[in-house]
Amino acid sequence: MTLHQNLIAGEWVGADGVENINPSNTNEVVGVYARASADDAKNAIAAAKAAFPAWSRSGILERHAILKKTSDEILARKEELGNLLAREEGKTLPEAIGETIRAAQIFDFFAGEVLRLSGEVLPSVRPNIGVEITREPIGVVGIITPWNFPIAIPAWKIAPALAYGNTIVFKPAELVPACSWAIADILHRAGLPKGVLNLVMGKGSVVGQAMLDSPDLAAITFTGSTGTGKRVAAASIEHNRKFQLEMGGKNPMVVLDDADLTVAVEAAANSGFFSTGQRCTASSRLIVTEGIHDKFVAALTEKLKTLVVDDALKAGTHIGPVVDAGQLKQDTDYIAIGQSEGAKLAFGGETISRDNPGFFLQPTLFTEATNQMRISREEIFGPVVSVIRVKNYDEALSVANDTPFGLSAGIATTSLKHATHFKRNSEAGMVMVNLPTAGVDFHVPFGGRKASSFGPREQGKYASEFFTVVKTAYTLA
Ligand code: ADP
Repeated sequence: MTLHQNLIAGEWVGADGVENINPSNTNEVVGVYARASADDAKNAIAAAKAAFPAWSRSGILERHAILKKTSDEILARKEELGNLLAREEGKTLPEAIGETIRAAQIFDFFAGEVLRLSGEVLPSVRPNIGVEITREPIGVVGIITPWNFPIAIPAWKIAPALAYGNTIVFKPAELVPACSWAIADILHRAGLPKGVLNLVMGKGSVVGQAMLDSPDLAAITFTGSTGTGKRVAAASIEHNRKFQLEMGGKNPMVVLDDADLTVAVEAAANSGFFSTGQRCTASSRLIVTEGIHDKFVAALTEKLKTLVVDDALKAGTHIGPVVDAGQLKQDTDYIAIGQSEGAKLAFGGETISRDNPGFFLQPTLFTEATNQMRISREEIFGPVVSVIRVKNYDEALSVANDTPFGLSAGIATTSLKHATHFKRNSEAGMVMVNLPTAGVDFHVPFGGRKASSFGPREQGKYASEFFTVVKTAYTLA
């Protein structure tokens, strides 16, 4: 099999290859991808540093054209790249193609943002002096991404970093190098000057750590676990470096007595189980008032019976496999924990066999859970959801907010009063009314509060807050 190499200083380098395995069929090798060393990471950082002066002053039309070309190629290859994504990560083919289209839209959006760069000119409080406020690129940006959105998350970090004139050292998650390699290849062929984007695939403890330890990264944007996020934060403070973290969630979805039952069930099934529950915005706590509780649980259980768990590429599959053996163990461990804590296993809970060997798990629903149980407090990151019964809206809101996390929160209700109150009083960065907690737009800010996130929001024009630094200049007239 061809070895897909790392991209450092505009050259494809590296010999030490690792197999990328399909979680729907562990007999299938998706490709072989080079594993970078700490020295490779250092070379990549040096290359990005050398490329920064020219790229940060590059013409906006050059940047616009490269981002637009990248968007066009991703869109033209959406079936092929979506297939690759589904095979390396395990989400269903329609979800994977949707994510690929999303990546193209993000590159297109930031191609547009390059042409909309602006600043402010205002009078000084002192006579005969003018003030200009401009945004400048930060420098070399380190990008560290997780495995659950193999093309969209790299896109929503790489596109703004380039649009605003930064150079990049990019380390994707070990489990999903293929989509990242494809993005690097497309940008390289689209004409990105050498060293502007460097791809270093490999281990977090080696390549990621070498990035954290470097004094030459001006900023790091990270999406992943809370534990690694804390390491990124500590190392960044040490190096006086800007950092942005997107971490876990334990997103609540409230269902009130007055909810439209069909809307509530659709939103809960989507939030909890689509993409195998492996989304940081997935809802794993369904907080349901007592008047609708039994009806809702019965309808959701009926819905779960209709969901097909199988190979991500098979037509008709609703839920693909869990991403790997380690994550499957984490999911089944939590299922055992939930039972030992006294929650009632209302549906699923078992691993299942399909034609090919893969990491298949039934969608799993607990009822009679409390918000104090570990299954309600810790992020499981699988298709495992708990129902917590509450008396009324006030208790629902209080349980929804009683969590260390604060990424996304949802409510199913036909009451304008409660929807409005929930939007104002939810302690989450994103609030959804009668919609799944997952599934967001690309042109508006994405991010959370509390232990879910740190730093400025990602996506849309708000991305400029992280990827630029403000300068205030005074001139005597
Ligand atoms: P997940 O549980 O989603 O895999 P991680 O936080 O382990 O979350 O991984 C997210 C990203 O962080 C991956 O690209 C991983 O390789 C990287 N990573 C893991 N450990 C470190 C580390 N010590 N330093 C920098 N990056 C790391």
